Amino acid sequence: MSESEREFTIKSYIDYLSEKKLMSSKCKDCGASYVPVRKLCTKCNSVNMEWVEMSGKGKIAAFTSITVGTPFFVEKGYGRTKPYCFSVIKLDEGPMISGQLIGVDESKPDTINIGMQVKATFIETEIRGETRVDLGFEPV
Ligand SMILES: [Zn+2]
Repeated sequence: MSESEREFTIKSYIDYLSEKKLMSSKCKDCGASYVPVRKLCTKCNSVNMEWVEMSGKGKIAAFTSITVGTPFFVEKGYGRTKPYCFSVIKLDEGPMISGQLIGVDESKPDTINIGMQVKATFIETEIRGETRVDLGFEPV
């Protein structure tokens, strides 16, 4: 399927992630970009969208260290003694997006700073024979 044929749905967005692409929908009328994607521009109500790949570069806007994980993270070995970090990133292109923060010392959250430069990474996990790809971020 060509870029222009994919529908502007969360499913398409996740399909792109599994291909290791961080895609946004960009409004052709006012230039606003959305990650995850939207069909309708909330700024100007246009449905005139196009797919644009994000650079994946951004800065940490917020983060939290999590010791009581979801079953998915518990299965990956995270928990009380091995916390994981969840972050909100402001992408250089503007949109805010959340993802796991890796390549940091999760047990020392004071070493992680708001405004720290990060880049997107794609975290692959094998679950029952299937590979799942999740968006993550790591320090530059
Ligand atoms: Zn718009």
